[in-house]
Parts: sequence; structure tokens; C-alpha cells
Amino acid sequence: MPENEFRVLDGPALWSAQAHLPSVLGRQLVVTRAAGSYVHTADGRALFDGTAGLWHANVGHARAELADAAYAQMRRLETYHVFGRYLNDRALELADRLAALSPVDDVKVILNSGGSDAIDVACKLARRHWQLAGRPAKTIVLSREFAYHGLHAYGTSIAGLEFNRTGYGSESLVPETARISADDVTAVERTVAEIGAEHIAALVAEPVQGTGGVNPPSPGYLEGLQRICRDNDILFVVDEVITGFGRTGTMFASERYGLLPDLLTFAKGVTSGYAPLGGVLVTPAVWRPFYRDSPDTPVFRYGSTYSGHATACAVALRNLALLEEEKLLPRVVELEFLLAQELEVLRTVPGVADTRVAGLLGGVTLDDHLGAEAVADELVDHGFVTRPLRGNTLQISPPFITTDDELRQLVKAIGTVVTEQGDRRG
Ligand code: PMP
Repeated sequence: MPENEFRVLDGPALWSAQAHLPSVLGRQLVVTRAAGSYVHTADGRALFDGTAGLWHANVGHARAELADAAYAQMRRLETYHVFGRYLNDRALELADRLAALSPVDDVKVILNSGGSDAIDVACKLARRHWQLAGRPAKTIVLSREFAYHGLHAYGTSIAGLEFNRTGYGSESLVPETARISADDVTAVERTVAEIGAEHIAALVAEPVQGTGGVNPPSPGYLEGLQRICRDNDILFVVDEVITGFGRTGTMFASERYGLLPDLLTFAKGVTSGYAPLGGVLVTPAVWRPFYRDSPDTPVFRYGSTYSGHATACAVALRNLALLEEEKLLPRVVELEFLLAQELEVLRTVPGVADTRVAGLLGGVTLDDHLGAEAVADELVDHGFVTRPLRGNTLQISPPFITTDDELRQLVKAIGTVVTEQGDRRG
């Protein structure tokens, strides 16, 4: 074989996302149906979904209430766009509902198809804001080390996870970005001073970092970021794509941590993943210039075919009603307490280096000699979905309808697998 040729692997037409293909081809798990907190695979496994998919299936899987809402909406109006003069009634209704739930008053609501979209719009809106305010040099978007904000161009350039940044020339993809410390307010202040606030448009932060390893904020950190933003005319963008709609026990983590964002991005939990939907809550300081009663009022050019998709909005409305009807937020508070207790015990198992909890978000960091990926793989054979994250950490984020017993079993299984793998290595 000539030197620059290589053998290629066989695989299905579908190109797996975020996958090292040689590691996954031939052992992919094909989910064919689900119910509640369980998913079923083509090869006959029933797995407890300890991650709620990608932190999205908050009310559980395959629920008739949400399927019915989608069906009824599609029979009446699948969707109509929200460009120009046109709107649809479901998008209007959902926006009103979201504005009522918002942790900040008097917001306008931008709707699109997911978290990456929401981030892209929020960052562009931040830049547009300063341009209109006569400060066009304020273009840089700050983000935290280990941050994940999706994989569109903006999300790639502001990623704090190096593996999501490298290979695209992300410094020039969206050039005006910079990283800040993930936990040290003084270091953030230094970075802001070095760059110069006159060049900074916005600071984007997950209240609890998800993909970066389930990292709850260190005490005072988020409040510190908010103060730095206020003191320096930097828009504070809180990315609640994971934390929104109850994941930390309050409707938004902004409430839990006492934050008043200028822009708030959401997705996942708004529909519990039953339809692709995301968006941005926009506060008056940012929306007012676009609502000025004048012929020269500027246009904010956002939007795609599916912005405000009527079926997605109908599903979101039913999902938000379910959170209330089934008192799922108080349930998350209970489950947080239980998860914290269980992880306290797990922490004493040899091989477990650290555990962290915020709401129904748990992270279990393993000692170096164990691999989170290998542990997650073996947990599948025990009937549990978990997920390896940065920092040799396992993700725990089951649906809110999880029972106490299921949560205990999940944590117990992690302990068992960690011990078994430790023994094999020892
Ligand atoms: N922001 C955060 C904090 C996320 O966790 C994610 C997705 N995991 C995104 C943005 C991107 O959302 P999506 O995958 O819907 O584009």
C-alpha cells in the first residue's frame, strides 16, 4: 500500500457525532424505544438513563402527553414562520409563558432550534448592542475555561474545552474571543483589565458547567462575574441550556445563584427534548433600541425557518405544564439531597477521587488509574447509561421522574464497577 493510503472502516451511513470512529464503530448502541427513565436498544438491552440523554429528557421519555400535544398541533398547524409581519399563535403563547417564568423582568424572547443557535444569536446580539450604543470596539466575547456552548462557529470559538476548539483555526473562526478563569474572580478581573473593558462585549457563563465535568460554581464566583460585568459595561450572558427549567431545583439556576443576566440562553429542558427548540431571553437594555418608534430603528437579523416552530412550541407549553402538574421542581430538590448523600458514600470508595452535586446534576471524578470511559462502558453491561466527561468524570443527570431507589441503584452500580475495575488493575 502506498504510504499515504490507509484502510477505512466499515460503518453505517450515519456519521456519529462527537465520536472517535475507530473506537465506536462495531459497538454502537442503537436506541429504538424508551419509556420513562429507561431506554431500550436494538440488541435487547433495557438501560436506566442516568444522563437523561444529553441532559434533556427531564420529564422522562416517550410520554403520551407530549406526543399528543405534537399530534394535535400538527393537525391544526405544523408551523408558520415568524419573519417580518408573520407570527404563529403557539410561538406567541410560548414567549409569553417564558417571559412570565424568566428570572429577569420584561424580557423579549427569541426562539430558534437549540442551544448552539441560542449562543450564536446571543453573541451576535451582544456585539450589535454595543455597535448601536456607539461603542463598536466592544466586540470580544469572554468565556470560561472548560466551557461548553455548543458547536456552531461561535460556540467553537468560545469553547473552553480545547478538543472542541482545535483544528478549525478557532482563533480566526470568530476572532474576538478570550478565556477567563473558571473559578477565580481575581484572575477574571486581571484578564478584563489586560484586554480592556472597552474591547469586551459580553461574558458567557454556564452557572454549573456541564460538559466541562459537572462543576458547580465556587462560592462567590458567579456573583463576582456579574459584578465585573456591571462595573465594566459587559453584557452578562448566562447559558442555561442545561440548567434551565428545573435541573438545579429552581426554574432557572439564575434564581438559585442570585443572578440577573442581560441575556439568558436556553434549550433542552424547555421541551424535555421532545422537539428541537432553544432561544434567548433578552432584557430591556438590549431589546429597547430595536423597538424604538422611529423609521431608522435598526433590525436585528436573526431567525431561521424553524424559529418559533409551532409544533415545538406546543410541545414546550405542555412540557412546562407537566413540570408544574407533577411538582417536578420540588422533586429535584429532594433528589439533590438524596444524590448528595449517596455521593458522599461513593466518595469513600477507593478509585473515586471527587464528587460534586448541584440539583439533579452529579459529577463523579475517578482516580487517574481508572478511565471514566471504561467505567461508563462497563456500566452499560450493568444496565445504566452514564457518560464520561472532561477530567475523568462521570455524568449523573437522570430524568426528574427518577425514583429514590433508581438513583441509589445507579450510584451503587458506579461503586461496584469502580471497585471491580480497581481490583482488576490492582
Ligand atoms: N450550551 C450548553 C451549556 C450546553 O450544554 C449545550 C449542549 N450540551 C449547548 C449550549 C448546545 O446546545 P445544542 O446541543 O442544543 O446545540
